[in-house]
Amino acid sequence: MQSFNLNNLLRPHILSLTPYSSARDEYTGKVGVFLDANENPIGSTTNTGDYNRYPDPHQWAIKQRLAPIKGVRPEQIFLGNGSDEPIDLLVRATCTPSQDNLLIMPPTYGMYEVSAAVNDVELVKVPLTPDFQVDTEAVLKAINSNTKLIWLCSPNNPSGNLLQADAIRTILEAARQSLVIVDEAYIDFADTPSWTTELDRYPNLVVLQTFSKAWGLAALRLGMCFASEELIQVLNKIKPPYNISAPTQSLALDALTHEAAKDEMVRQILTERQFLAEKLRSLPSVQVIYPSDANFLLVQFNDAKGIFEHLIEQQVIVRDRSKVKLCGGCLRISVGTRAENERLLSVLQAMDSSSVVDDLPLGTGEEAMKPEPVSNA
Ligand code: PMP
Repeated sequence: MQSFNLNNLLRPHILSLTPYSSARDEYTGKVGVFLDANENPIGSTTNTGDYNRYPDPHQWAIKQRLAPIKGVRPEQIFLGNGSDEPIDLLVRATCTPSQDNLLIMPPTYGMYEVSAAVNDVELVKVPLTPDFQVDTEAVLKAINSNTKLIWLCSPNNPSGNLLQADAIRTILEAARQSLVIVDEAYIDFADTPSWTTELDRYPNLVVLQTFSKAWGLAALRLGMCFASEELIQVLNKIKPPYNISAPTQSLALDALTHEAAKDEMVRQILTERQFLAEKLRSLPSVQVIYPSDANFLLVQFNDAKGIFEHLIEQQVIVRDRSKVKLCGGCLRISVGTRAENERLLSVLQAMDSSSVVDDLPLGTGEEAMKPEPVSNA
């Protein structure tokens, strides 16, 4: 087996880049007369607090508090403006446009493809199997010496399921010249340990998580990237200097002292996921409810488009995934509160009991999967 060498993966100019050095990099003390960063010394144009000083560019306080929660070292953490920021930085650090490629497994989260396109990087697509698992053999065949990044999303968006650990491990062990990124945005809703536990074993492993889902902080825009200290240093080198705002840092720091509240919300969402799945299962318009390890359900309907549009008329907004590979006829439904779920169900029930959808044809081709049991997780 070839050994992993990060330097072979990085674009040569990134390897030799001298990063921007901010005022707060050059002096880190907290007390003094700060005339070094061209800030406004007087105050801020808001009554809600003082924001006139630049924030810590390395977010050390958050990393110190987060590291023991995640079982990693602070130096193994990169924080981004949402996990979308490290998604883009990973592409920029490793993929030379018109030369390298990155591999994705559709149907999956759309930003991997967008980031490839923004950076003019070739995209290699190896579809998941019809039960939304990794086609390991096809992935290994598709990897070549220019494959810099392999994206795995587990639990996967939009299908909601965890990817099999064996498949991920096989890829980690075989693709020693690529970074293997496991996007765990929804991991808190799954009954399985994070891949962060394997970071010290696999130097090519990168794990993404986010404060946007279980922690309930989507508006703050705070994403986590866990990897080798060496790779984290590279991401720090190429990120905008002050990528996480001071309000986001202080709110996240506070949130991290309320882990039990996060756990309680997760429990509630899992109860609601079960409730929603059971109620949906009894509706004639529902064909398949895919097992979910996330905070949403992928549901195949007999008339996804008609139902999607009717739901919008009734001000219930779900995501139409019916045009996405392997998701024919499917809508993706985020698990709501009990009241929100009941509102969705009552609109669907009313539709089903009217004659509107009764006569519509069943889907064809990719849509025609057998109903799967609903996950109890
Ligand atoms: N990864 C996955 C799989 C997602 O579904 C999302 C958001 N829907 C993200 C990453 C981005 O999350 P963030 O809010 O941290 O940018």
